[in-house]
Amino acid sequence: MSEISDQLIPWQKKFGRNNLPWQETINPYLIWISEVMLQQTQVKTVLPYYQKFITTFPNVKTLAMAHDDSVMRLWSGLGYYARARNLHASAKIIDSKFQGKFPTMFTDLLSLPGIGRSTAGAICSLAFNQKTPILDGNVKRVFTRVYGVKDWAGVTSVEKRLWEIAEKNLPETKFGKYNQALMDLGATVCIKNKPICLKCPINKSCKSFLYNWTDIIPAPKPKKEKLTKVSYFYIFQCESKFLFSKKPKKGIWGGLWSFLEFNEMLNVKQWVSKNLKTNNFSLLEKGVMTIVFTHYKLQMHYQHIELRDLKSQEIFPSGSWHDKGEIENGAYPTPVKKILKKFM
Ligand code: SF4
Repeated sequence: MSEISDQLIPWQKKFGRNNLPWQETINPYLIWISEVMLQQTQVKTVLPYYQKFITTFPNVKTLAMAHDDSVMRLWSGLGYYARARNLHASAKIIDSKFQGKFPTMFTDLLSLPGIGRSTAGAICSLAFNQKTPILDGNVKRVFTRVYGVKDWAGVTSVEKRLWEIAEKNLPETKFGKYNQALMDLGATVCIKNKPICLKCPINKSCKSFLYNWTDIIPAPKPKKEKLTKVSYFYIFQCESKFLFSKKPKKGIWGGLWSFLEFNEMLNVKQWVSKNLKTNNFSLLEKGVMTIVFTHYKLQMHYQHIELRDLKSQEIFPSGSWHDKGEIENGAYPTPVKKILKKFM
């Protein structure tokens, strides 16, 4: 065993997070769902989504057979929607190419949409006890601190070095337990601010502890001013129904229902008369909401428009009218639900 794994495995048994639902199983499907949900999302946010998801789709088959909308509905509010689309696409591939059997080979897992090296490593080690390293955000933080890596981990050469470190510290047995211990240490002891070094089982091997570098490692991502994209959203309401269009699969909110969106401000009167064949409407509240994504900001200018002509609900072919009762639990992005709440 490496010095680190020697300390970490017994520590995990005693002090690790042994009660999370995905830690009580070696079912690769359940581990996969949890690993994907936990990318960029905290455990406490993931828990209710995970429970609902695996109750509705308890195995690969049920997920593969599901309708896009049902998958997106269960993901609504969790963000980073490409994760849900990739899970769904991968389930279909497992169902067709692997005859519904969850792949056990690292390279097969890596070939599936949305499964990178760390996720494949986590599934192989946790479900099949294979000797595969992991390097998620928590584990990167642990290794950069232990080895005193002062450069930002997003640089390719630094990431390459961290993978080498991850490889070389793998034990000779108990690969799943060891990887779980690393994740637990990063999540509960080697936390971002004020790590609890005095309670850390590997503090004697840790350069950041010895040289007091925990405030400067890991190095933050270099700041870059985010671009702002401006879009115009029109919220058409007719009685208790609102008009939506489905976002294309690629891009933000892919596969979810959103308001009609335009790059430029509309001449509403002309647009409504041409597309919804009525002049019987009122312009209501306007507003602006700014959403910050990983690479840019979206400034959403929105306007609520009330149509009084019921015919409008039958006319517009590329949209879909949804009753307000359907919206709370439907496949809509969180900002769309937030804006709608003002008008319901
Ligand atoms: S000693 Fe501190 S900085 Fe080093 S790994 Fe442990 S918690 Fe992290």
